[in-house]
Amino acid sequence: MQYYKFNATSDEEIIRHIIKICKRDPCDGKVTTGGIVTVKDSVDNWYLSWTINRQPQFKVQDKDTVLIWLYALNTDRNGNYVKKAMRLCTGEEVCREWLYHIGIEENRIEELARSACNTTTCFMPYINAFFQPRKNEDRPHVVPDGSVNFAFLGQFAETPRDTIFTIEYSMRTGMESVYTLLNIDRGVPEVWGSKYDVRELLRACYYAIDKKPITDVKLSFKEKELLKVITKRVKGTDIELLLKESGLLE
Ligand SMILES: Cc1cc2nc3c(=O)[nH]c(=O)nc-3n(C[C@H](O)[C@H](O)[C@H](O)COP(=O)(O)OP(=O)(O)OC[C@H]3O[C@@H](n4cnc5c(N)ncnc54)[C@H](O)[C@@H]3O)c2cc1C
Repeated sequence: MQYYKFNATSDEEIIRHIIKICKRDPCDGKVTTGGIVTVKDSVDNWYLSWTINRQPQFKVQDKDTVLIWLYALNTDRNGNYVKKAMRLCTGEEVCREWLYHIGIEENRIEELARSACNTTTCFMPYINAFFQPRKNEDRPHVVPDGSVNFAFLGQFAETPRDTIFTIEYSMRTGMESVYTLLNIDRGVPEVWGSKYDVRELLRACYYAIDKKPITDVKLSFKEKELLKVITKRVKGTDIELLLKESGLLE
């Protein structure tokens, strides 16, 4: 079960802490967290994570205000700071837990949660239905065999190779149904086959380790030795070239 919290703040102290973690200023109008930041210390508690998209997220949003989304997977366990199950908490209490995890000094937490943040909570008990394992026959095809006047749209219709939880998925199912049922000779934009492209996979690894060459990653002695053997083996080959192009090797 997931629980979402939307938190808005323009407080400088909080923003400084965000910058410290993300190495980016959320007020710059650029991507801030990239993906979702998982709070490792929270894994056995609320399993908290948070994200800051490109600001402002809404047209009417004040330009100095930053909107933060918080997620939790465990709604029935106590928090690390707030000793309560998340689902029983007010927005302010949920905010305290987040402020604690981003490193705000404990004696400032209550005050900032009360007066510097505006926090709204939202329960989304069905969202995990998206992530249930499924096999091909579990969901109807967008245009079921033999259908001439109806189709299925959205996240619970089956379309080949695509991954749900995206706007694109819904859009594709809409296009697929209209083009098929109305016999329109237009192709639905293909699902990008990144998982079949070794260059993309290597590049993804490079980003996943914070855009560093693999030699800069903290490795165990065994791993380091293995890396030495591999880099020696691939020297002068196309594999070395691919690793260099991806940024994984210097
Ligand atoms: C927290 C969160 C974050 C997300 N982040 C991203 C992201 O970063 N990028 C991304 O691509 N996707 C993201 N998604 C997924 C994306 O938002 C959805 O997949 C997409 O909005 C689904 O679009 P849809 O039109 O198929 O369905 P919906 O947007 O769910 O629209 C269905 C509509 O049907 C209405 N409805 C339901 N039942 C009835 C009824 N009986 N009669 C009339 N109306 C009805 C509903 O009220 C709703 O308005 C996110 C989703 C969530 C929940």
